[in-house]
Amino acid sequence: MKLKLHWQIIICMVLGTFMGVYFNNTGVNSPLYTLIVLLGDVFIRLLKMVIVPLIFTSIVIGICSVKSRAKIGRLGFKTFLYYVSTSLVAILIGLFLANTIQPGIGATTIESIEAFDTNKLTSSTSILDILKRMIPINPFKAFADGDMLGTIFFALFFGITLGSINSKGSSSVLEFIKALYKVIMKMTQIVIMLAPIGVFGLITKAVSNMGLSIFKELGLYALTIATGLTIHLFIVLPLILLIFVRVNPIIHFRAIASAMVTAFSTSSSSATLPVTMDCVKDKVRASDEVTSFVLPMGATINMDGTALYECAGVLFIAQALGIPLDASQQFIVVITALLASIGAAGIPSAGLVMLFIVTDAVGLSSDAVAIWVGSMLAIDRPLDMFRTMVNISSDSVGVAVIAKSEGEKLY
Ligand code: ASP
Repeated sequence: MKLKLHWQIIICMVLGTFMGVYFNNTGVNSPLYTLIVLLGDVFIRLLKMVIVPLIFTSIVIGICSVKSRAKIGRLGFKTFLYYVSTSLVAILIGLFLANTIQPGIGATTIESIEAFDTNKLTSSTSILDILKRMIPINPFKAFADGDMLGTIFFALFFGITLGSINSKGSSSVLEFIKALYKVIMKMTQIVIMLAPIGVFGLITKAVSNMGLSIFKELGLYALTIATGLTIHLFIVLPLILLIFVRVNPIIHFRAIASAMVTAFSTSSSSATLPVTMDCVKDKVRASDEVTSFVLPMGATINMDGTALYECAGVLFIAQALGIPLDASQQFIVVITALLASIGAAGIPSAGLVMLFIVTDAVGLSSDAVAIWVGSMLAIDRPLDMFRTMVNISSDSVGVAVIAKSEGEKLY
């Protein structure tokens, strides 16, 4: 019997962990190490290769297949409501844990860590700026740069307009895009078959670069974030599935297992999107309409894990600096954490960079903050892997909830 893909991936993750520990001890200068890392890099590149055409074609088809404008509005509203409410729940979990565990009290920065270079932040300084930059000046440049929000905006606008034009020409355009979508989806499935090998390379690299000893210093912080993510993934999302989808959460998680492990090993919601889409369509059996509406946007906008992390991370920094935040400041943290998670790109460590938006909002001074963020960066990878997994899981639950509410038969 052939082993299911997610089991193949999990086995390769375990093997990769062993290899990573081995290279961590023996050094990373061997040709074998270079070769293994190459496998991971090739896999990520293949995934990234299909993202832009996949997002564009799937959104256009999704929008055009929704017959009435009223339905587009309804789906849009439900999607927005789901994104915001689940992210807020995640943030409140982070808020509660950071206030009760108080990981920042008595924490020390990791010695030898340099301050985080705030110049790296030029790309995302304010939320208004992010909203403005959603509109691409040149859609082809947005495609070429892999600019997700720009691509989504153009695809939505294009899809709505194409759907409203009734001519022979416009139906040929749609037919063409449908054919393109089929090809890209097939390519995606071929790439996904390589996931076990790719994940093996990615995990080997991640583990070999991780100095586990640094966890001692920021252990309580890491524990707080990990606890919050665990609660969200294993209690909140299953409850949503039980209440709104009326399905056994295990069935859902089994359906998206390949996407979860891919998110864990790539630390990138965007790179995982092709896999998430495949799982949701193939195993959750949601319609193209809903999948195309909820997933591509969700991969960039709906980040529950990141939202939780923004909130708990900033409270941690404030505690460590000895500047406890009062109730009104914590309220500002909640709101800006939500916006920061929306603005964070679906790439590794994007959430860490967005921390500055939240610290700025409550007036925490950048110099001392930058040193703390530098320390947090040192142990960010495993936390990033975990929060990315939570991010894409929430996206997939969103598809199930909205598809169910539209009367679809799932699983
Ligand atoms: N890596 C995360 C993601 O792609 C974003 C983050 O850093 O929180 O979903």
